[in-house]
Amino acid sequence: MVNRMRATRAHRDNRRSHHALTAIQTTLCSECNSPRQRHTACGNCGKYRGKTIIDMTAKIAKVEKKAKAKTETATAK
Ligand SMILES: [Zn+2]
Repeated sequence: MVNRMRATRAHRDNRRSHHALTAIQTTLCSECNSPRQRHTACGNCGKYRGKTIIDMTAKIAKVEKKAKAKTETATAK
């Protein structure tokens, strides 16, 4: 880096003044009352505005199948 290009502390800190993260906004699901992120389908029941968006029974079955396969490979070694 050429010394001329070096950012001052003020320049660096002004740039970083926009880097702060804010906590995500949550609301309670109207179907199951669990906290969920706004404008997204509920992670607990998979519904958004009353409609089923994610088939949670299939998702749970997939996770269980994956966990079972993992334990089977661990015992095989
Ligand atoms: Zn829900």
